[in-house]
Amino acid sequence: MSGRRLDVQLERLGQLIERVAHANSFQRERLLHASIETREQLRSLPLTLRSELLTDQTSQPPFGTNISYQLERYTRVHVTSGTVGDQLRVPQTDEDWLHTRAQFALVLHHAGIGSGDRVALPFAFGPYLQFWAAVAGVEEIGALPIPLGGLGARERLITMAQLETTAVICTPSYAIVLTEEAQRSGLEAAFESVHTVICQGEPGASIAAARGRIETAWGARVLDHAGSTEVGVFTYPCAAGGGLHVNEDDFICEVVDPRTDAETAPGDQGEMVLTALLRTGYPLIRFRSGDIVEVGGACPAGHEHIWLPRGIVGRTDDLVVVNGMNIFPSAVEAILREVGVLGGYRIRRPDRTSQAAAAILHPSDSDEITVLVEMTEPARVSRIQDLARDRLGLSINVVAVMPGTLRDTRPKTRRLQPAQRSGA
Ligand SMILES: [Zn+2]
Repeated sequence: MSGRRLDVQLERLGQLIERVAHANSFQRERLLHASIETREQLRSLPLTLRSELLTDQTSQPPFGTNISYQLERYTRVHVTSGTVGDQLRVPQTDEDWLHTRAQFALVLHHAGIGSGDRVALPFAFGPYLQFWAAVAGVEEIGALPIPLGGLGARERLITMAQLETTAVICTPSYAIVLTEEAQRSGLEAAFESVHTVICQGEPGASIAAARGRIETAWGARVLDHAGSTEVGVFTYPCAAGGGLHVNEDDFICEVVDPRTDAETAPGDQGEMVLTALLRTGYPLIRFRSGDIVEVGGACPAGHEHIWLPRGIVGRTDDLVVVNGMNIFPSAVEAILREVGVLGGYRIRRPDRTSQAAAAILHPSDSDEITVLVEMTEPARVSRIQDLARDRLGLSINVVAVMPGTLRDTRPKTRRLQPAQRSGA
C-alpha cells in the first residue's frame, strides 16, 4: 500500500474516532486515548467481534450501545443474515446511508453500468442491506431500477424482456435459476439485451467455471461484488482482471490468520478485518468480517486498491476441516460447475465442526463429507469424486437429488448443512 493512501486512511480514522469516542458508549472504552498515526498503532486497537455486538444488543435492546447519536437521527435499520434470534440490527443515519449509496454506485461504475441502463432487481426486498443498497446505487448513477420482488422466475423473465433490461443484480445461484427457467419456458429473449450481470451474496461469480456457465447462457459479462449489513459495500469488481477490489477510500482492510489474529503473509488466505472509515452512526473499527480472502498482487488494469482475484473465498463459519485441510464450499462449487452441474448443492458434515474456530482447533477431524447435488445426470457423480480427489485430495460422498429441492430464498444461500438437521 502506498504511504499516501495509508496517511489518508489514518486521517479519516482519526476523524471517526474524534466523532464517536465520547458519544458512543460501546466505543468509549475501546478508543479512549487512542491516537492512531501508524499501522502498528491501528493494530493495537481491539478487534470487534460480531458476537460482542450481539451480546451488547441483547442486553440493551433494541440496538445495543454502539450508537453515537440520539435515536431520532437514525433513518434506516437493516439486519444481518442469520436466524431471527441471532440477527444483529444495524441502524444508519442519513449520512451513513449516503456513503452506502455511493459505495454501490462505485460497484456499478466499475461494471460499466451508468445512465441509460435498465437494471433488473429480481429479489424479494428483505431486511438485509444489500437489496436496498442496490436500488440506491442504481438511482445514484441515474439508471433505471426495475424492482422484481414478489414475482416468480417466469414473470421476472417476461418483465425483463418487455423492458429490454440491460443489467441484472442477483446471486449467482439465482442467475442459474433464471437460466433454467428461461430454457424451460422458451424465454431466452429476456437475456438478449443484458450486457452485465452483477452477482452478490455468494462466491460463484469469482469462480471461473461458475461465471463461465452464466456468461455463456446469458451472453453477458458476469462480475462480482461483496458487502455486508454491518459495514456497507466494501468491494467493487475488477472488470479487467476478475475478482474484487477493496474500496480502500472508505475502508481499511487487514487480513489476519483467524487462529492467531496475526497479519497473514501476502498471498496467504486469511480473514478480512474491516474498519468502516465513514460510518459514524454505528461505527465498526477492526471488525472481524468472517470473510476469507486471498490478496493478489497488482491487477492487470493497475488499479491501486487491494485486489482479491478470487473474490471472497469463503466464510470462516463455512470452513470445513477434513484430515487437517481447510475446505471451503467454493472449492467444491468450482468442481461442480466444471463438470457442467448448474444446480444447487449442500455440503453436509458433522454438526460438531459447525463453528470455524472449533473446526480450526480440531484439525484431526477426519469425518468424510457428503455433498448433496441437484442434478439429473447421476453419471457425473464419479467425475465429481475423481476431481475432488485430484484437486482437493478429498474423498467425498456425492448424492444426486432432484433439481429444485435445495433452493433457498435467503440472500446468501447456505452451502453447509449440519448432518443433524439434514433429515428434518
Ligand atoms: Zn483491477
